[in-house]
Amino acid sequence: MLREPLLMLSRSARVKHLVTSMPVSKGVVARYVPGESTEAAVDATRDLIGSGLHVSLDFLGEDTLDLAQADATVTAYTDLLRSLSQHGLSRTAEVSVKLTAVGQAIDTSMALDGARAVCEAAQAAGTTVTLDMEDHATTDSTLGILRELRKDFPETGAVLQSYLRRTEADCRDLAYEGSRVRLCKGAYNEPESVAFGDKHDVDKAYVRCLKVLMAGQGYPMVATHDPRMVDITAALATRHDRPQGSYEYQMLYGIRPDEQRRLAETGEQVRVYLPYGQEWYGYLMRRLAERPSNLTFFLRSLVSKK
Ligand SMILES: Cc1cc2nc3c(=O)[nH]c(=O)nc-3n(C[C@H](O)[C@H](O)[C@H](O)COP(=O)(O)OP(=O)(O)OC[C@H]3O[C@@H](n4cnc5c(N)ncnc54)[C@H](O)[C@@H]3O)c2cc1C
Repeated sequence: MLREPLLMLSRSARVKHLVTSMPVSKGVVARYVPGESTEAAVDATRDLIGSGLHVSLDFLGEDTLDLAQADATVTAYTDLLRSLSQHGLSRTAEVSVKLTAVGQAIDTSMALDGARAVCEAAQAAGTTVTLDMEDHATTDSTLGILRELRKDFPETGAVLQSYLRRTEADCRDLAYEGSRVRLCKGAYNEPESVAFGDKHDVDKAYVRCLKVLMAGQGYPMVATHDPRMVDITAALATRHDRPQGSYEYQMLYGIRPDEQRRLAETGEQVRVYLPYGQEWYGYLMRRLAERPSNLTFFLRSLVSKK
């Protein structure tokens, strides 16, 4: 019930200003975002890798209409990748990129150039890039840019969202050999015309998509905290004779950390999505929208004296 209003607020500049200027917000956001600087992100990455986990780092920011900011995002990623490589972390840590942070809303070719520069830096560091998926208005453009990038960087990862009605067909298109595909449920506010509105339907679609990806020739990246989806993935791996490491689980930083470690201890490849940077507002609001108890925690922190 609260999901829709919270997701609408995630795009409000006024509420963003209000929330981000409250000092306590930073305490709350620390649960989901380990820091604002490259150093903090690299430190958190080192800790996660030390516990047997893999990482995908996201330099926070989205929806930019500012050329200088889009350029700054590309620079932030190239600096990060250099640092990961220097610290010997780039074999187990990759990056996730939102195309709207590198200019997709300004000009598609600008976003392609920016993403290409990040892919080049990732390749030099010996790692990969995954293109996050944003709201449905960007899906075709994002998949188009993915196709272009894969000509030179075939390891570039895609993300598909099971709440979109189109996604089962997209899974079939992308389940080819060497194709890395992250499957998530989807985090944006979408109209019924393009997305399932009922959570149960989103979950059923997730299972259908998972079946396509696990039966296919690609590399499925199962991004969910849902214990039922984790169990179904294990059953599908057995059914399709997929050894551990021919697919991976992915979870967000700060969500079900015990489960992340438990799965890794059983020999599964588990990757933690690690966001960092100052532009955490949209990301935080999507996390709050996913779980009402998080919102209670957030509001309580705002009225407490701390
Ligand atoms: C690695 C990764 C990458 C992602 N990339 C994208 C992307 O590119 N585009 C996109 O649209 N979405 C992305 N998402 C978000 C995703 O679409 C969902 O919004 C989010 O993962 C919640 O869905 P769920 O599968 O965990 O299932 P849910 O049914 O929402 O949750 C299942 C259980 O997980 C736990 N849980 C879920 N969310 C939270 C939370 N915020 N706080 C605490 N506990 C929680 C709860 O125990 C809950 O019962 C990504 C998610 C992950 C894990």
